[in-house]
Amino acid sequence: MGTQYDIVVIGGGVVGSAVARELSRYQLKICVLEKELDVCNGVSGRNTGLLHSGILHEKNLLRTECCMEGNAEFEQVASELDVPFKRCGKLIVGFGEEEKKRLEGLYQRGLENEIPGIKMIDHDEIKSLDPNIDGDFAIYVPSAGILCPFTYTIALAENAVENGAEYYFDHEVTGVEKDEEGLFHISTNGGEFVTRWVVNCAGLYAFRISEMLGFEAYVPNRIKGEYEILDKKAGNFLSMPVYPTPNESGAFDVHVTPTIDGNVLVGPTIETIGTKIDYAVTQKMIDVLVEQGSRMFSRMNRDYYIRNYVGVFPTIEDPETHKEMDFQIQTKESAPHAVNLVCINSPGLTSALPLARRVVEKVKAQEELTANEKFNPIRKGIVKFADQDEEGKQRLIEQDPDYGEIYCRCECVTRAEVKQALHNVLGVSTISGVKYRTRASMGRCQGGYCETRLTQMVQEELGKQKEEILLNKNGAYMFTGEVK
Ligand SMILES: Cc1cc2nc3c(=O)[nH]c(=O)nc-3n(C[C@H](O)[C@H](O)[C@H](O)COP(=O)(O)OP(=O)(O)OC[C@H]3O[C@@H](n4cnc5c(N)ncnc54)[C@H](O)[C@@H]3O)c2cc1C
Repeated sequence: MGTQYDIVVIGGGVVGSAVARELSRYQLKICVLEKELDVCNGVSGRNTGLLHSGILHEKNLLRTECCMEGNAEFEQVASELDVPFKRCGKLIVGFGEEEKKRLEGLYQRGLENEIPGIKMIDHDEIKSLDPNIDGDFAIYVPSAGILCPFTYTIALAENAVENGAEYYFDHEVTGVEKDEEGLFHISTNGGEFVTRWVVNCAGLYAFRISEMLGFEAYVPNRIKGEYEILDKKAGNFLSMPVYPTPNESGAFDVHVTPTIDGNVLVGPTIETIGTKIDYAVTQKMIDVLVEQGSRMFSRMNRDYYIRNYVGVFPTIEDPETHKEMDFQIQTKESAPHAVNLVCINSPGLTSALPLARRVVEKVKAQEELTANEKFNPIRKGIVKFADQDEEGKQRLIEQDPDYGEIYCRCECVTRAEVKQALHNVLGVSTISGVKYRTRASMGRCQGGYCETRLTQMVQEELGKQKEEILLNKNGAYMFTGEVK
């Protein structure tokens, strides 16, 4: 029999990591099984990074309830977990009479949902909020905000580990069996795990785990969304996210969003792709992004483009309403001690902690939990050199001379930060792991200058051979051997 746990969480995205963190408030032996080499490699690392307000969905949905709860508490969450966050507000703009009617409908929904502070504003008011945003009229949503999904997920996972949870990367769940005593035997490519409870947080693959646990066999109907990342020059021209009026079917086309780190994201496009997962970027959609983004953001300029990426929504169609299924947190008598999260689509980033608390409630409904008196909600992140004023920079260099050596020129990341990233409590050693913890290689040159230095640092700090070093996944070697 393998190692025995009280609870195994399947999936180390933002939701699985929030679940692990909230469970670590109790005396439980918890582990997270993640098939990739780091957290945040699924949907959580491929989104817009918006703290949604709750205006986009109907009242009485679990997704709306969780979203509003997550939105309201985020100052406290960000301060506990040392996650940069800005409540910058958002504009949903419209042009012409047709869009005005639809936007007024959305505004009414906002009022019904009791979204704080929303108001309809005209063209001049849009311009006074941000001269680079275009629209004849707009809904101003002051409670929306921006955060980095990588930093947030890493922070949740680190805090969970600091409070006793364990993470197993490169552990793909391939089967689940239940024995006569009611224990789950979870098969992975890294061995068997035995546990009293299982929580399915497998994102795009949650429908598979759902079936393994004896819940419904859902068929995903996924939606692909392509994005462009604009460099920080564009970020100087945008103060808040700007969305278009929902289209006739109620969906939101391309939006333009400043990131918490100063870039601008344009996207996502919307393309139904059924059961497949497709991360390919296409010229066709780049053109759509330029056209639709330029309508709302006057500073769109091809010179600013630095990278594209794709996010895939884990959408499932509700067989009764034929609409997108709401968030599901399922338990059932015939599968005691299993909690099944499916269709955790947008706004799952905003809703991660409220979802996690509801998972804890499901566990508490079946057994009494004892508080972990050592639980500490505070997690400290890496002190970023680039965020300091001149005095602060000087102080950091005096404390640690490695802060005086710049490794990534574009993002002004120092040797000290890269070192700290490599000694993360999750034990991640990939180049992308360093990138998502420090922003090294996220700038204009996309690692052209710093990637070789990062690999050298992995060798020095972790004693790895250069042929062993991976970019982000198994098989993605940085080097395959000597050239001469
Ligand atoms: C394009 C796009 C934009 C979005 N924008 C926003 C936004 O701005 N704000 C917002 O609030 N929400 C947004 N969302 C929604 C949000 O990103 C997701 O709801 C959230 O990230 C889901 O997190 P998760 O942990 O459920 O899934 P994931 O992040 O996908 O995590 C699931 C994890 O499970 C792992 N896994 C899967 N199968 C197995 C297995 N068999 N064994 C072990 N591990 C496994 C995966 O590798 C993955 O790491 C957006 C989504 C998309 C697609």
